[in-house]
Amino acid sequence: MKCKFCEKEAYIKLYHPKIPLCREHFIEYFERKVRRTIERYKLFKKDERILVAISGGKDSAVVSYILKKFNYDIQCLYINLGVRGYSDKCEEYVKKQCKMIDTPLHIVKIRELLGSGIGELRTTRPTCSYCGTTKRYISNKFAYDNNFDVVVTGHNIDDEASFIFGNVLNWNTQYLAKQGPILPGEGKFVKKVKPLYEVTEREIVAYASAVGIDYVTDKCPYSKGAITLRYKEIINQLEKIRPGTKIKFVRGFLKKRHLFEGEIEKGKINECKVCGMPSGGKVCSFCRIWDLREAVDLSIK
Ligand code: SF4
Ligand code: ZN
Ligand code: ZN
Repeated sequence: MKCKFCEKEAYIKLYHPKIPLCREHFIEYFERKVRRTIERYKLFKKDERILVAISGGKDSAVVSYILKKFNYDIQCLYINLGVRGYSDKCEEYVKKQCKMIDTPLHIVKIRELLGSGIGELRTTRPTCSYCGTTKRYISNKFAYDNNFDVVVTGHNIDDEASFIFGNVLNWNTQYLAKQGPILPGEGKFVKKVKPLYEVTEREIVAYASAVGIDYVTDKCPYSKGAITLRYKEIINQLEKIRPGTKIKFVRGFLKKRHLFEGEIEKGKINECKVCGMPSGGKVCSFCRIWDLREAVDLSIK
């Protein structure tokens, strides 16, 4: 099969639009799509300081590579969760990825900072729930303490579609109102954005291999059996039957998102009396989960 735009052999056949592309034209297509996402949703400007939350996996590796290629001012943050047999391996990949794009890398080690790794804490909360709180808190506080304007994550359209699908399925409507490619900053909350919002996992894998990015393919052991993986499979089946389902679903959601705005719980935001970061109660959930007596120090030394 030949590329739609030249005489070369096709490297990939896209599902939507259904066109074959050679390696060079696919790289061009993918980068144009990411650039358009940045512009369409006004994610950030050239003079903003960007912190990319990087994990060793394909999504964050691709987003940091591409932002560097577009000449944005980026630095990377890796949170080593202390998951035995997994986190240190991811750290090795992250180091290689940042070296490849010649970008500063900051590493926060949960075990050193908080005394134990994710999955070892004695708590009634599910591991992924307090891991999520921990990662969100650390990336936000790190960005805030070190004067970054924006935190970038590698979420793609498969993540977004499955998140929306799952929350509609369970009618968790209060989560839907704030979901999207950009979460504006406010007070001590730094702006969060997703430049890969409109590209699929399949396209990200193909792009990583086309430009020579090496990444961890192992999954975190705690992700086993996660329902979100089943949601992704179901949405992929629908995409096969009717190409374009994912993008229509996600863009359609963004148009209707205002319908969920009344669902946001508008409680008073206090300052956590331990760390001073925003909190619904007297102590924020991060300081509560880790039973902290003083704020963690995340300033760059
Ligand atoms: Fe954290 Fe692993 Fe759960 Fe992801 S799968 S939220 S990294 S514990
Ligand atoms: Zn071509
Ligand atoms: Zn706190």
